[in-house]
Amino acid sequence: MVDNKQLWEQALSQIELSTSKANFGTWFKNTYIHKNEEGIIYLSAPNTFVKDWLRNKYHKFILKALRDISPEVRNLEYIIIRKDDKTTPAEDSSQKNLTTTTDLGLNDLYINKDSNLNPKYTFDNFVVGPFNEIAYAAAQAVTKNPGMNYNPLYIYGVTGLGKTHLLQAVGNYIKKQNPNKRVFYTTSETFTVDCVNSILNNKINLFKEKYRKYDLIIIDDIQFFSNKEKTQEELFHLFNHFYENNKQIIFSSDQPPKYIEHLEDRLRSRFEGGMIVDVSKPDYESRLAILKTKSRVLEKQIPDEILEYIASIVCDSIRELEGTLKSVIVQTQAKKRDITLTEIKNILKNNIKPKKAVSFKDVVKIISEYYTIEEKSLYEKTRRKEVVKPRQIIMYIMREDFNSSYPYIGQKLGGRDHTTVIHAYEKIKRDIQKDTVLNQEIEQIRSQLYNS
Ligand code: ADP
Ligand code: MG
Repeated sequence: MVDNKQLWEQALSQIELSTSKANFGTWFKNTYIHKNEEGIIYLSAPNTFVKDWLRNKYHKFILKALRDISPEVRNLEYIIIRKDDKTTPAEDSSQKNLTTTTDLGLNDLYINKDSNLNPKYTFDNFVVGPFNEIAYAAAQAVTKNPGMNYNPLYIYGVTGLGKTHLLQAVGNYIKKQNPNKRVFYTTSETFTVDCVNSILNNKINLFKEKYRKYDLIIIDDIQFFSNKEKTQEELFHLFNHFYENNKQIIFSSDQPPKYIEHLEDRLRSRFEGGMIVDVSKPDYESRLAILKTKSRVLEKQIPDEILEYIASIVCDSIRELEGTLKSVIVQTQAKKRDITLTEIKNILKNNIKPKKAVSFKDVVKIISEYYTIEEKSLYEKTRRKEVVKPRQIIMYIMREDFNSSYPYIGQKLGGRDHTTVIHAYEKIKRDIQKDTVLNQEIEQIRSQLYNS
């Protein structure tokens, strides 16, 4: 475990990469981790102003930076340490105004410490339709007879279609049926970090022991194992152990095994020896059913005609469907009255993305022309501001509009690390919410990309 000081230093170095110098200096100066209580990080800010700002604008971002370094981090609280060294809990009037937005995301943050499962992902709130019924049935079958029939279970599909939800629903269900079962959810990225650290620290045996003691292991997004040879080797042995002991293992990926690049053949054939199922894009009826379920869960009444409208325009991803619904709810609350269909149409009209055959090269070309910079500088290591922003926009568009994987984007852009891409993507995504100029720029770029 890294100590608080190291943890914060590492997080800051990540944060610094994706914030402007001015913002970084203003908001992160004089911050530190006061304590870490079983994964709840208490971040100390110098004053209320900074504290509120961090919480309102940077919360998820900071949390993610911390979790990337230390997966044990569960939540983040903000405090001000007064001169007399008394702790003031982060609670004041401004928090009230915030409940609208934080309410909607709060659930995301409570994660079981032992299993890493997020209790919000259950079968009960998982909508089944023609697009995902096979994956759903396979997941159900696994809960009936873990380790016996479909081992491994391998679920694939593009991002935002419910893979993580389904995987975790299996874990939560098994845990609920039998609290003694040792269930563990992880992502390939965290698993890799854990494995590499164990090798570096000569603790590979502890690593093996730790994972072997579970009854069910769920590893999400295994496309990121591509090229990680040592980790693949450990995964191979772990899988064999599970398989031989009739213990269930579940994977997800954005692709079927045969298309994952740089995957050892023996692992590929293990994956192929199990049950491989896909989730595809939801049809209109399913999209509407999902919106209805979500608004019920969020306890917000949204008129049917609005849900129908959203279902008719957001077609590609359930995550996007959910995001759109949440933004409608937030706007309704901000206006303190129901929002009309016409207003919704206006708000959402910028969200609709026409898709035409556009290559990675086209994206780079159009963006470099738009910002009048040399195309090749985008591939280089330079951190000049004029280049960094367009580069981040390329990453954002490749991810948002084309669902390209983070490693793929990084590799295409001069061999950058996928975490850099993740940060760039999230930064732009966040910035366009508040920066109307940036928003317009991106819309103009899109219209050049898709309409020319
Ligand atoms: P993926 O892992 O495939 O990228 P997620 O599982 O993270 O997708 O799903 C994105 C969001 O959509 C999550 O909030 C999830 O709860 C929700 N979601 C996905 N599929 C369904 C479904 N069938 N019913 C209800 N919610 C869903
Ligand atoms: Mg996922």
